[in-house]
Amino acid sequence: MSIAICPGSFDPITLGHLNIIRRTSKIFDEVIVCILNNAAKTRHMFTVEERLDMVTRAVSRYPNVRVEAQSCLLAEYAKRFPGAVIVKGLRAASDFEYEFQMNLINKNINPELETMFLTADGKYTFLSSSVVREMAMYGADIKGLVPNELIQEIENKAKQWRN
Ligand code: ADP
Repeated sequence: MSIAICPGSFDPITLGHLNIIRRTSKIFDEVIVCILNNAAKTRHMFTVEERLDMVTRAVSRYPNVRVEAQSCLLAEYAKRFPGAVIVKGLRAASDFEYEFQMNLINKNINPELETMFLTADGKYTFLSSSVVREMAMYGADIKGLVPNELIQEIENKAKQWRN
């Protein structure tokens, strides 16, 4: 059985993430969306529990996709699923440089681990969680950037952050 791991911080999940997850679910038998509690990004808008809940709801329409949260290194985590492949989205040349470096680091820890990239959909090449956070903080409309069912809670959280 082929397994893909789609990692990220998903703070919050965007339609760009969802596009990659959906396309990956058509290629692999099983997809694990892995929410990383990234130590380098110290201040998250949403807690891991909130992100787990939001991502789980967003992917519920895809039967072969499940969601887990992890605070260990991705390359260590992937050892639990022998043969699994990491799938990531590539938006721009700047993503490539970072991802190339991450791939080398992952290979050092787990030489068997392969990473594959799907090019971002043209509609979402500009889209990132930080763009969504920024827009929500300034009260801008985030419709079309995140799943509809999550708009209200992202706006509510942004309001809390502003105060
Ligand atoms: P972000 O970069 O938005 O903060 P993450 O750290 O959660 O998001 O990213 C997880 C993965 O999703 C990365 O591989 C990233 O390249 C990919 N990704 C994020 N946004 C998009 C997008 N708009 N289109 C395609 N892939 C994306």
